[in-house]
Amino acid sequence: MTPAKKASAKPTKASAKPSKAESRTALVRRARRINRELAEVFPYAHPELDFENPFQLLVATVLSAQTTDLRVNQTTPALFAKYPTPEDLAAANPEEVEEILRPCGFFRAKTRSVIGLSKALSEDFGGEVPGRLEELVKLPGVGRKTAFVVLGNAFGRPGITVDTHFQRLVRRWQWTEQTDPDKIEAEIGSLFPKSDWTDLSHHVIWHGRRICHARKPACGACPIAPLCPAYGEGETDPEKAKKLLKYEKGGFPGQRLNPPQAYLEAGGKAALPLGAAG
Ligand code: SF4
Repeated sequence: MTPAKKASAKPTKASAKPSKAESRTALVRRARRINRELAEVFPYAHPELDFENPFQLLVATVLSAQTTDLRVNQTTPALFAKYPTPEDLAAANPEEVEEILRPCGFFRAKTRSVIGLSKALSEDFGGEVPGRLEELVKLPGVGRKTAFVVLGNAFGRPGITVDTHFQRLVRRWQWTEQTDPDKIEAEIGSLFPKSDWTDLSHHVIWHGRRICHARKPACGACPIAPLCPAYGEGETDPEKAKKLLKYEKGGFPGQRLNPPQAYLEAGGKAALPLGAAG
């Protein structure tokens, strides 16, 4: 179902606002319902960084700070072709790595990070990315957010990714009033079974990137408007709101050069490599 279709059930002011004293049970129900609705809208939601193994995902996640996943995906093929393992990257000439990472921004700091990370993997973990939170966060430059991305997507262990979209949306939905990412993670985690955590993160982040934007949320074309206390923060006119959507059913390219098949089948397109025309 497209967002525009679902949004045709226009929320009234009363239906958009949960009662002031929403009980814990009602909050849990509403939160889970939002996640279910988003799963219908984005059945092909996936991590938007290209990777083939945990090492690649870990490095790509570190590189994604302050830039888009698309830019990282356009940069990492050259990096991993030259340095396929932690040992290779640990022994790399930093100037050569800097040249490859230049398009990602902050390339000197990012070069130091990924080489330092690779050295730690080689020296302390036998060249393997550890699959446990406590060990991952010991790696230089790896915080809980990065660790959960890796656990959830490369190891299949439940993880909540509290990025900027996630923080904005869960506050708009009044799932939490916390501003500290660790506290947000704990509060939102308590609303859902653990098995939902990784997919929930994808759904929320996809909704934030495509529909519920930071500055101009497309409320009038939003599939969960009747469940959202912040309905009206953005454009409510359905026609104007539709123009704000960044939604792949219109054939937009996603962030990945190698997206999953389900995404392509839903009308999404693969992103182009760096420097490709189009
Ligand atoms: S703020 Fe608007 S776009 Fe965002 S979830 Fe609520 S109704 Fe949808």
